[in-house]
Amino acid sequence: MIEFPQVNPGADVTVSATLFMTFSRCPDQALGRLHGLYPEESRASFRGGLAHRVFARHLSSGPIVSGQLEQACREEIGAGLNPALGSLGLRPSELTAVIKEVGDLYQRFKTLSAEGFRDAEVFLEEQPVAGVTLRGSVDAVFDAAGGRRLVDWKTGGLYETEEQLAFYALLWALTHRELPAVVEAVSIESGESITTRPTRESVVATAMVVADMVNRLRTSLDVADAELEKTAGPWCRYCPLLSTCREGAAAIKLADS
Ligand code: SF4
Repeated sequence: MIEFPQVNPGADVTVSATLFMTFSRCPDQALGRLHGLYPEESRASFRGGLAHRVFARHLSSGPIVSGQLEQACREEIGAGLNPALGSLGLRPSELTAVIKEVGDLYQRFKTLSAEGFRDAEVFLEEQPVAGVTLRGSVDAVFDAAGGRRLVDWKTGGLYETEEQLAFYALLWALTHRELPAVVEAVSIESGESITTRPTRESVVATAMVVADMVNRLRTSLDVADAELEKTAGPWCRYCPLLSTCREGAAAIKLADS
């Protein structure tokens, strides 16, 4: 139902929701990701990843019995988060504190309605044109009036979420040949939410933005030491290019002054 625009020939590119959001913030940081430069694991991302595993477990297997949360967290870490834990190097007492915070988030999460729940952690992938793969994982899919409701849970605030929701809407439209009825982000921490109702026009517009991004990335990937625009902001603090980026260093200096 959605025709993805033609793109210029070039290197194979995989566009994840994270890459799309990164490019929206700073194109040069996105280029860095394609060269294998990723931000280091942080306590916040580890905590978020563990909380998401707990939420998915709740939806798929039922509520976690009171007193069993710590054991459930340790099982989820063992099932897939050990590498992240290892690179963070948390001491046992620090891990206990993270698990306690995840438990607090879970108490909030349990108050949300699961009515219409269909599936958790739904991986979506599509190759709309040769050499371009789009992929992402939607936290949960629910039935909704007029179709499906895609939900992304945030364990922090809702920052620059619209791009991510638009990307999921495009990915769902490409993989399911239908528009999602609703795409929503919910902050478990603050209770804020953003709800979008994608239209064919909005999804086509997102496809054009993604195609343009692929063209710009491909042009730079073909040229040794090429750079893209650098857009500095709070995200610079976690950027793997910060040590060599004047714009990023200036932004951090200003923020810390
Ligand atoms: S430090 Fe900031 S401005 Fe520089 S590349 Fe990274 S995100 Fe962009």
